[in-house]
Amino acid sequence: MPAILDARSLQTSTLDAPVCIVGGGPMGLSVSVRLSELGIDHIVLESGGREPGDNQDLAGGENIGQEYEDLVTTRIRALGGTTHIWGGHCKPLRPEDFLPRAHIPNSGWPITFEEFAKHIGGACELVGLENKWRAADYGDFSAWLDPEAGFFDFEAFKLSQMNHNPSQWAKGDFFTANRSRIGARILTHATARRLLFDEAGRVAAVECAGGEDRPLQVRAKIFVVACGGIETARFLLINKRLAGGPLSALPALGRYFMEHPQVVTGQALLPPSLPEYFFGVREPNGEVNQMRFFLKDRMQRQHGLPSTMFELLRPETGGQGPADRVARLGAAAPIRSGIFAKPEQAPLPDRYVALSRERTDRLGDPVTQLHYFADASAHASLQETTRLFARELGLQGIGLARLTMGPPGEPAGGKDSNVGWQRHHMGTTRMGTDPATAVVDDQCRVFGVPNLYIGGTSVFPTGGCVNPTMNAIALCLRLASHIGSSLNA
Ligand SMILES: Cc1cc2nc3c(=O)[nH]c(=O)nc-3n(C[C@H](O)[C@H](O)[C@H](O)COP(=O)(O)OP(=O)(O)OC[C@H]3O[C@@H](n4cnc5c(N)ncnc54)[C@H](O)[C@@H]3O)c2cc1C
Repeated sequence: MPAILDARSLQTSTLDAPVCIVGGGPMGLSVSVRLSELGIDHIVLESGGREPGDNQDLAGGENIGQEYEDLVTTRIRALGGTTHIWGGHCKPLRPEDFLPRAHIPNSGWPITFEEFAKHIGGACELVGLENKWRAADYGDFSAWLDPEAGFFDFEAFKLSQMNHNPSQWAKGDFFTANRSRIGARILTHATARRLLFDEAGRVAAVECAGGEDRPLQVRAKIFVVACGGIETARFLLINKRLAGGPLSALPALGRYFMEHPQVVTGQALLPPSLPEYFFGVREPNGEVNQMRFFLKDRMQRQHGLPSTMFELLRPETGGQGPADRVARLGAAAPIRSGIFAKPEQAPLPDRYVALSRERTDRLGDPVTQLHYFADASAHASLQETTRLFARELGLQGIGLARLTMGPPGEPAGGKDSNVGWQRHHMGTTRMGTDPATAVVDDQCRVFGVPNLYIGGTSVFPTGGCVNPTMNAIALCLRLASHIGSSLNA
């Protein structure tokens, strides 16, 4: 079990441990779970308190470019991190997400899907899900779909029982759900601010704001930064500006920011007899399972389209369609459903996290400045993918669908459209083989700093179309095993 200490009331100004993890969200805590299993002593520094509230203002920032959500609402400073408000949706990345694709600039991971997939079972366990994702594991859908014939794969997509909504599952945030697996010293109200480097360019200590005017230093052999997809980049950019050193040689730091837009792109008329699995079923073990449609790899390559997931929204019953359509669908009135599209966003260097030149936070550090925009080609791609999806529904005999998305030229985002964001922050410390275009290597180690690692969605070189958290947890478990091996070497 963890020892939770409030940094504001510590009597010491220095602590030592073999490993120091900065950030007590699902990523930092996943590293902690695995290190605990390996019996490795470590300290977790968490800026917030046990529950959201304290230090939340430190997550504020500025948005430049296309309208985006107020940054202070998209991350939570508290032990358990943003899982205090997350949706709990999970699905493993797909094999093609790891491959270079000519039509997605800067695509390709330095690790294979097979290497990544070894750790998904462990990640499923931490978010309370069974590691089963094939539609065939949940029923016979052959009367509705021929999986070989179509343009889309039909697979399970799940809602974790670890969810903030007490009316549904009451299992709480990631820390609450996994507390018994964690054997760390956790310091709350410990906001890491400075990395202190030794002469060899290794991190010697991290300094954080603890009690009033009394900084706390934590010294360790290995450091893991896991502050979230935006905040990790901000923390390193602040240190790059102040300390320079090896971080100066990382031009990709903060760049290639990716989100997952979500757009209602069409409408479908569906037969009332469509199995509940198309809209979501609660399994006996408590997880909620909704089958979704994923654009096949061959279709992505053939049409130059990004990875895209479609969801049929739970319909309003009694929808009215033109008489001929009603006739084709059978005697009972069809149900009307929205088509919800969730496309991959390309990693582009011009979408990035920087530091504000004017605003500082309460501690005196520059706040985040997020430069966000939707690329012009995204709108047309989404229209084309939706047309393919509408054809798929028709060809498979599932239903009739049409595109309702506005014309090209209309911005694929912003307040005038129905585009929303899933608050998935990825790519800002991307994994790669070249420090000119990446920040960490294939072990999530920062280029040029042998004892500094990053845990989280910020290491994703591309983000696929699925929710990132469980996937990044898998990478954190892999990272912690690597740390275990290097400490024992
Ligand atoms: C409304 C909402 C719904 C979401 N739904 C889903 C979903 O359904 N599925 C999904 O996969 N993802 C979802 N996400 C995204 C998900 O919450 C994040 O991917 C995930 O929380 C990232 O984990 P993390 O540990 O990297 O960052 P966080 O959860 O943000 O945790 C980072 C931790 O680091 C701490 N910290 C930050 N800076 C410092 C510092 N300087 N010193 C010390 N500590 C620091 C913070 O206080 C925080 O506790 C959602 C996000 C939001 C906002």
